[in-house]
Amino acid sequence: MNTEEARSRIGELTRLLNRYSEEYHVHDSPSVPDSVYDRLYRELEDLEKAWPDLADPGSPTRRVGGAPLDHFAKVSHEIPMLSLEDIFNDGELVQFLSRTGEADLCCEVKLDGLACSILYENGLLIRAATRGDGRTGEDITQNVRTIRNVPLRLDTDNPPRLLEVRGEVVMPRKGFERINEQARQEGGKVFANPRNAAAGSLRQKDPRVTASRPLMFTCYALGLAEGADLPDTHSRRLAYVASLGIPVSPETRTGRGAAFCREFYSGILGRRQELPYDIDGVVIKVDSIARQEDLGFVARSPRWAVAYKFPPQDEMTVLRDVEFQVGRTGVLTPVARLEPVKVGGVTVSSATLHNEAYIRSLGIMIGDTVIVHRAGDVIPRVESVVMDMREKAADLRPVEFPGFCPSCGSVLERSPDEAATRCSGGLFCPAQCKEALRHFVSRQAMNVEGLGERIIGELYDGGLIRHVSDIYRLNAGELFRFYRSRNRMVNKDTPEGSLLVNNLERSIDRSRKTTLPRFIYALGIREVGEAMAQTLAEHFKTLEALMQATTEELKMVEDVGDVVAGHIRSFFQEEHNCRIIRELRDLGVTWPEMPAHSGGGSLSGQTFVITGTLASMGRNEAKQCLQELGAKVAGSVSAKTSAVICGSDPGSKYARARELGIRILSEEEFLAMIGREVTG
Ligand code: NAD
Repeated sequence: MNTEEARSRIGELTRLLNRYSEEYHVHDSPSVPDSVYDRLYRELEDLEKAWPDLADPGSPTRRVGGAPLDHFAKVSHEIPMLSLEDIFNDGELVQFLSRTGEADLCCEVKLDGLACSILYENGLLIRAATRGDGRTGEDITQNVRTIRNVPLRLDTDNPPRLLEVRGEVVMPRKGFERINEQARQEGGKVFANPRNAAAGSLRQKDPRVTASRPLMFTCYALGLAEGADLPDTHSRRLAYVASLGIPVSPETRTGRGAAFCREFYSGILGRRQELPYDIDGVVIKVDSIARQEDLGFVARSPRWAVAYKFPPQDEMTVLRDVEFQVGRTGVLTPVARLEPVKVGGVTVSSATLHNEAYIRSLGIMIGDTVIVHRAGDVIPRVESVVMDMREKAADLRPVEFPGFCPSCGSVLERSPDEAATRCSGGLFCPAQCKEALRHFVSRQAMNVEGLGERIIGELYDGGLIRHVSDIYRLNAGELFRFYRSRNRMVNKDTPEGSLLVNNLERSIDRSRKTTLPRFIYALGIREVGEAMAQTLAEHFKTLEALMQATTEELKMVEDVGDVVAGHIRSFFQEEHNCRIIRELRDLGVTWPEMPAHSGGGSLSGQTFVITGTLASMGRNEAKQCLQELGAKVAGSVSAKTSAVICGSDPGSKYARARELGIRILSEEEFLAMIGREVTG
């Protein structure tokens, strides 16, 4: 690249990044994912390093955030609120550590929200502000006062004269999904992600709107302090702040060296999805305040800290086509075929588009540039359309919705109360049959190892299996003949051939011994998932009792309402289903009897519902603790519920419990009940 080219690219990047930055920081409405912004930012940084004279004074690499909005009063930050330098790989981590020397470090999570400063005078909250451009922020005092975990008064008899705590305001993912769902139904503003929802909710003119949003504050630093005897390390300062009743993150560790940082980074990355809020990396800070002061600052960030970013969960790519897949119960799911793109460390080439209504609400067209979101093991989804890129798209065409089932040609049905479109073909539809087979053999159901989607497809198309009972009629000789006739390299006489067929035969045989809950789940009755299958098995004890249960008897079971009872009844009223069940038992499928009493623990006979986020453990762990003590855990509140355990940001179940006058337990009360120590 020559100087002229560099000048032009630097100018172009500066303009583009400043526009993106304004959309993001000022209007809380980004048009591209952070990954795209970060890549362009890196490119600009590299060019500015190579041609320092060409850098624009208004370059985003020299500035923090965005200007404050006019409708808020301005607040000056006496100590500027800076940003953080980002690092993306191990080499950059090593570089940072060589800059800091042999120092104690404090590792924290990098919360993905909005920076906020809260000032306490003589222990009382008197002012709160956004970061703004780092020097001038927006006065959001009234809004911050509505955040439930922000104390209005410090919990001490001897407060410092002045104490400014700085931290991040985030919206937990659950709350984000809830308000977006509500906005979709009411035609309100749908936020791109929890970060923008947090920022948009905090920067409201009307504090009542902020109050209605599930926000949470976490302190990660101190600003002004007068009349306070502060400890001399960052980690002890956080502990001091926590002692005043200000929330700090429990995900904070101190240590030294690269191995410690790597371990913290991968540990948090591995648990990223378990945390109730979004994080986009970890922050590594020098712990000693004196050492921090020695290292000082550069233009927009301290030299004593870095943000070690995680692989992005959102990426931009092009929608090549939309296909409609038919599921086990006949529901048609539109699947986006995408130009392959790496998201969260994995190459993604397809993503769900949920249903027709979702496609219409996105206004998506084939050929569009879209943002795909992939978090943990959840199926990737198309999140939004980058409308800006439409001009560049040469060939756009609308998504065509099929009139008939793409697998069997049957008529499609759409019940008025459901967003879903269904194929009416039932067992006539090959796609539904294959999916039912796949569900039957899946790990949580009959667990037939080695019988994956491809083999099921081949056996079904080859006519060897039609119904789930046919699986137990397969024998090695037949399988060999089948594969040989299809010219596959499966030969009885080769070690590979006999291994494949013998392994399959063995795992089919092993799966004959199962449990009643697994068997009920494997049947694939609509709305009967794993938890429901477990509850039904525990309640009825035998399959016969379940098969004969009337709608009224079914409705006596926790969590079973009219709809589920209806699905269960119609499944067992279908003669075909009863025949298959008889065949399966004749072919040797068995399970041990259900124990007469489940446990008899201290909580037996009681039913609990959990809502909100527990700080001390995940939902599954809490559920397990309760079940071990003999309790049942249900998904919804009814008159039969004994108590509702309520974490932070509780959902509608909390309101329902209040309505029904059901006992509500705080997390502390819950921990005490199960005999756990209350920490923090
Ligand atoms: P940043 O968000 O990358 O990092 C600095 C901020 O991290 C701090 O101000 C603080 O608010 C926060 N933080 C969270 N946890 C922290 C902790 N434990 N300790 C200290 N700070 C913590 O930087 P930024 O300047 O706020 O914003 C730049 C980022 O915003 C970019 O990396 C980019 O991804 C995103 N961005 C995106 C767009 C877009 O169009 N999508 C535009 C502009 C910026």
